[in-house]
Amino acid sequence: MKKYDVVIVGASTAGSYFARRMAEKGFSVLLFDKDCRDKLSPSYDIFHMAKDEMKQYGLPEVKEGDGIYEFTFEDSAICSVYGNHPKPSKLAVTGMHKHKYCVMMNDWAAQAGAEVVYGASFKNLTYDENGKINGVIYEKDGEETAVYCRLVADCSGIPAVVRRSLPDDYGIEKFELTPNDIFYVTLRYIDFEEKRAERYLRSDFWLYFKSWLAPSGGSDALIGIGACGGFDVAEKVYSLFEKTVKLPAHKVTRIEKGRTPYHRAPYSFVSDGFIAMGDAACLTKPNCGEGCTAALALSDIAVDVATKVMANGAYPTRDALWSINKLYNNTQGKEFASLMALLGSIIRHSAKMNEYLFKKDVIFSCKLLSSMGNGIQLSFADYAKTLIFVVVGLVTGNIKPAELKAVIDAIVTSGKLTAHYEKYPETPEGYEAWAKEAELLWGKTGKVADWDAVENF
Ligand SMILES: Cc1cc2nc3c(=O)[nH]c(=O)nc-3n(C[C@H](O)[C@H](O)[C@H](O)COP(=O)(O)OP(=O)(O)OC[C@H]3O[C@@H](n4cnc5c(N)ncnc54)[C@H](O)[C@@H]3O)c2cc1C
Repeated sequence: MKKYDVVIVGASTAGSYFARRMAEKGFSVLLFDKDCRDKLSPSYDIFHMAKDEMKQYGLPEVKEGDGIYEFTFEDSAICSVYGNHPKPSKLAVTGMHKHKYCVMMNDWAAQAGAEVVYGASFKNLTYDENGKINGVIYEKDGEETAVYCRLVADCSGIPAVVRRSLPDDYGIEKFELTPNDIFYVTLRYIDFEEKRAERYLRSDFWLYFKSWLAPSGGSDALIGIGACGGFDVAEKVYSLFEKTVKLPAHKVTRIEKGRTPYHRAPYSFVSDGFIAMGDAACLTKPNCGEGCTAALALSDIAVDVATKVMANGAYPTRDALWSINKLYNNTQGKEFASLMALLGSIIRHSAKMNEYLFKKDVIFSCKLLSSMGNGIQLSFADYAKTLIFVVVGLVTGNIKPAELKAVIDAIVTSGKLTAHYEKYPETPEGYEAWAKEAELLWGKTGKVADWDAVENF
């Protein structure tokens, strides 16, 4: 039976990156995927990554003519419900073809020594006499193959096939995402009826509808719409969006659909010989649902810790891997938790309040929306302005008391979650009590799926 140090289930963006980094550290790595190489990551074509993040994580460079790169743009804006009062921002973003990017990432992992196997479906984990993971069984061409390993990484995306197969008492939450925990995205590739001299290279986002107009490949642009609950929910919102926002005349040339998690990450990512990563661990950016670079922060931490823990053939126990939880939850983990809690409640407002706040540049302000998630500092003047316009909004009927309460609750719970994630336990001993308290706080946040943007328009 073959032996590896690390077996990674799922060879998309998260799996390939972890495979490359662990192989670079000298570990023997098996990366396998249920899909064959030419069908990898089939659900949608164009995706984005911020150039800064690609550099930060040392991802391979892409360029014009390589079949992966499609465009770069810098200008974006978040707009009010009626498409007014844009909050602009500048950030260089690269657009790429997802399937070809994933194939390149597989090859990048293989170049560092990882073995990549396609058409291989995860069947089961194997355990030693003490009940600790010691290998994986996969099925390929109707035949089952068992391999030994010390660490299994679940990078299988939303199905989280490995995490969900663990014994109930293995120390990892086994939750399955329901439709309300998933962001259903439909991409409409469009051609403008009036031809433009220049390529369309900017992105606009309508917060109320969770809809965007962005550059594309193979068409002039694309319109995205996302909603928790199902594709039918997104379509209902899209009909309202089309009636409300005046987009340039266009015809739809093709439609793609995909799903991305919208759920808090598991409270622990690690256990004996196990780690969950990427969409399998719900590591997507709360403000946009993107997960290709969001997953890499945990991966980098995991590589550092696992490299030390697994030196000289040692087995990576839950205790030994625990600092991955601590380091992650004290950094990106706490930021994502606080942002997700904030957004889950802040979206509970009418079109009237949305337009009012965008116009007055408070709460939905340039300062906040142009730097979402990048640690902004609000001054006394910002708070004073917010207070004045909120009071005026209440008096003039632009804001309802219940809407204001939702915003205040969101800010309070989000702050409490940040503080709680900062207190993430150093060792597994404090975990049960910490998770219990976290559960209470999450119970106070609203879910995006609970708010009907059409009904409350
Ligand atoms: C329409 C849409 C647009 C998006 N745009 C962006 C974007 O612009 N930027 C961005 O950063 N993110 C974007 N995202 C999110 C992004 O696609 C995901 O967060 C990211 O792909 C997650 O990567 P992953 O490797 O964790 O999981 P996945 O990409 O889901 O890959 C999981 C892999 O595991 C394999 N697998 C599953 N089950 C098994 C099994 N039983 N055995 C073996 N293998 C298995 C699958 O075949 C798959 O290859 C978008 C999502 C959607 C739906």
